[in-house]
Amino acid sequence: MKFNTRSIHAGRKPDPETGAISPTICQTYTFRFDDFNKPGDYDYSRTGNPTRNALEDAIANLEGGNKGFCFSSGMSAVSTAIHLLKSGDHAVVGDDIYGGTFRLFNEIMTKYGIEFSFTRLDSAENIEDAIQPNTKMIWVETPSNPLLNITDLDIVAKIAKERNILTVADNTFPSPYFLRPIEYGMDLVLHSTTKYINGHSDVIGGAIVTTTEKLAEDVHFLLNGMGTNAAPFDSWLILRGLKTLPLRMEKHAENAKAVADYLSEHPKVSEVYYPGLTSHPGHEIAKKQMDGYGGVVSFKLTTDVPKFIRGLDLFYLAESLGGADSLVEHAATMSHASMTPEARKKAGITDDIIRLSIGLEDSDDIIEDLSKGLGGSGLNGVFI
Ligand code: PLP
Repeated sequence: MKFNTRSIHAGRKPDPETGAISPTICQTYTFRFDDFNKPGDYDYSRTGNPTRNALEDAIANLEGGNKGFCFSSGMSAVSTAIHLLKSGDHAVVGDDIYGGTFRLFNEIMTKYGIEFSFTRLDSAENIEDAIQPNTKMIWVETPSNPLLNITDLDIVAKIAKERNILTVADNTFPSPYFLRPIEYGMDLVLHSTTKYINGHSDVIGGAIVTTTEKLAEDVHFLLNGMGTNAAPFDSWLILRGLKTLPLRMEKHAENAKAVADYLSEHPKVSEVYYPGLTSHPGHEIAKKQMDGYGGVVSFKLTTDVPKFIRGLDLFYLAESLGGADSLVEHAATMSHASMTPEARKKAGITDDIIRLSIGLEDSDDIIEDLSKGLGGSGLNGVFI
């Protein structure tokens, strides 16, 4: 079946007892054993739960992996994945990844002897230069956060496979609708399901999709051992959100392209970061590996950032992305405040960078609001 159909049906079937087509929320902490030493299909909800398993199967199906696992947050998925490494191992990581992932790696996991090199993953040369004899993992976000840099996944997979290095793609920004990293040879795909997968701004969640039985076994062992699992009700909400993922992603991308085009022409904007623009340095690679360019647009403002933000009405000033409501955030003091100033500087996340999560409103209203923030009249379609 094709993607739209699988978004609605994968992992789900009508309830065998009632025929309900919306899955039942299995809100239980434990399950009765059939007999001594004979558990049924489930024994304890941390280890496995039918509602969570339905979501796990659905996401694994959409990503094209063998198994899926769902977590209480994107960060709990990231924490679980990084525990596949052990003390003395080294990971090569993109330099403008989500700030919380950077903080976990740089300030927490280093305490346990795991080493990291943060570097731009935009060429085979950069990646190869960062690899050390103890490199066991390459961690990619493409498009990256907040600069929307593009990494060629074919190149990463080729380099990693030659050296037996595990590859992880945080696929939160594009969602499986626009990019399926497993098709390019990535070993693990990770999501903050908080964002596009759920899409309704009402759940925090995460997911990992694996590609081999061994990886599935290892990830489940960590999920169960660390207790990083998602709750049944959250899983149910995300399953509901998933049904409209294709429709939402099309509209996010259509609106985002309109915003990127508008900002590109604006005199108070010096740079626009959106991989759908032909001027974006990663455009050709994005075009090759993605089916669309997503709903996040970042840009550099030449005037007062707080004044611009205070001038907006429709855009809420809030962290996060991927919901129906358009959001604006200042990367240096919000999503990437958890990066050290040096790391931000190295990654090019300067204080004039603003990240927009373009929602599902009418693009004319979105652009009118931006025009107002930028000091234009914003009225009657007169945009400056
Ligand atoms: N990965 C990316 C790319 C993100 O943008 C985020 C959050 O913004 C996370 C992971 C962490 O997800 P969560 O906030 O659900 O813990």
